[in-house]
Amino acid sequence: MASTTEPWRATVLTLFPEMFPGPLGVSLAGKALASGLWALQARDIRDSATDRHRSVDDTPAGGGPGMVLRADVLAAAIDAADIAPDRPRLLMSPRGRPLTQSRVVELAAGSGPLIVCGRFEGVDQRVIEARRLEEVSIGDYVLSGGEIAAMALIDACVRLLPGVMGKLASGTDESFSGSLLEYPQYTRPQTFEGQPIPEILLSGDHAKVAAWRQAEAEALTRARRPDLWAAKQAQQRTGQKRPKNTTDG
Ligand code: SAH
Repeated sequence: MASTTEPWRATVLTLFPEMFPGPLGVSLAGKALASGLWALQARDIRDSATDRHRSVDDTPAGGGPGMVLRADVLAAAIDAADIAPDRPRLLMSPRGRPLTQSRVVELAAGSGPLIVCGRFEGVDQRVIEARRLEEVSIGDYVLSGGEIAAMALIDACVRLLPGVMGKLASGTDESFSGSLLEYPQYTRPQTFEGQPIPEILLSGDHAKVAAWRQAEAEALTRARRPDLWAAKQAQQRTGQKRPKNTTDG
């Protein structure tokens, strides 16, 4: 758990520290960063290079295209970050376990992760094992580097930190938190291009509104994410708590 004195912290190891805070410096996350509700440290992996050219990468053993981040340089960068043993050590990687809302909730509840951002063809396998890095993917597509993936993960965590979101409740009702996608939202104007807001939402009957939203959320989930729907059905059938890190976070 985060102590009362130390805010939640993300320590990012990257070849491009100037990319941070980037989008995390504006809006919700940015205001929270400025007011000390969380902390961000972006450390340059290149500072741990030891040769004259400060090289961080080399050609893949066994041949093939591109370059690979060196094990010794990256290990030195991780060691220099001097992370408390209770903090998760993540490596953003398309080979990792796909990030889910349930993993985000866990990460937000802790003291904050170390996040290694790969570049080029990735990182030497030996450092992943030697420093016990947990590979985390943000989806089945390939980015050119781990920084944007790290930002996505940090953003998802930060909005859950106490005091960051305007209304405490808005984190509990939304997509994934109950294994369902979120129901449709409406606001002014009352009629838009001939389309009125569904009448029930204006009825003031909270129970009816809640029932309508539940039904909409279920219909959306069934149609768009049969995988989530099936997992929810299975979970209800067995009455068991769903396993960690499944897609129905
Ligand atoms: N050759 C590698 C891809 C390297 S992409 C492979 O096929 O697996 C370069 C870096 O971008 C990776 O080391 C990783 O840090 C980051 N990256 C790319 N896609 C990502 C994804 N879907 N999720 C998280 N990180 C990703």
